[in-house]
Amino acid sequence: MIIKCNNLVKTYHQEGQDLRAVDNASFSVEAGAFVAILGHSGSGKTTLLSLIGGLARPDAGSIIINDVDCWQQSEAQLAIMRNQTIGFIFQFGSLIPTLTAIENVLLPLSFADAGTNPAENIPLARELLDQVGLADKENAFPAHLSGGQQRRVAIARAFINRPSIILADEPTGDLDEETEREILDIFRHYNTEQKTTFLVVTHNSSLVSTQHNPRTFLMKSGQLSETTAKNESA
Ligand code: ADP
Ligand code: MG
Repeated sequence: MIIKCNNLVKTYHQEGQDLRAVDNASFSVEAGAFVAILGHSGSGKTTLLSLIGGLARPDAGSIIINDVDCWQQSEAQLAIMRNQTIGFIFQFGSLIPTLTAIENVLLPLSFADAGTNPAENIPLARELLDQVGLADKENAFPAHLSGGQQRRVAIARAFINRPSIILADEPTGDLDEETEREILDIFRHYNTEQKTTFLVVTHNSSLVSTQHNPRTFLMKSGQLSETTAKNESA
């Protein structure tokens, strides 16, 4: 079991009101799983992903990754775990505008332990940019890339630490169909060849139909339920 969440709750306080963005969510995911989380805008998908990734602290409940209870760790230990284990693909632009595409891809390595030399990973960064179709854009700054190209740089960046888990928040939301298919092929490659575990948030069920038997969950008003199609003959 790689990820286990128990009774997660996250409430936002806004204009004197409490909003339960995540309402008692529990689930477990095995290593190497491909999981799709569907749900309407505002249903709490991004909040759930930020809890799973240790970017936001739950009000209640626990997140256990590789047998480690995230919030029983010090902030420093949690940061190391995030950096070494998890690759994030955020919903909205997250590139550093003053860094080139390849510098953005290499950036997570500067937060890794002191023994890591980002320069040694330039070949890997190039390979990742090539995989997302941006081999000729390594020296471009984000402002000179289209929204879809920026998104692809962010996808390449998520893989640079060779994470065992990728958390992706609507990774193909602003991409055309062909690019979307290419990105999903990359995900599938890492999922089947490297056994990378994927949790992918999407409001677009084409991702579910093009992936081979993903586990699917539905988020509805903060409540999470599994909707994986059961094989009736099994
Ligand atoms: P989704 O990703 O499914 O669109 P979100 O997790 O972004 O949903 O948001 C869930 C709910 O929480 C929404 O009603 C949203 O307005 C609210 N929300 C999200 N982030 C914050 C925040 N930082 N402060 C207050 N409310 C928030
Ligand atoms: Mg969202």
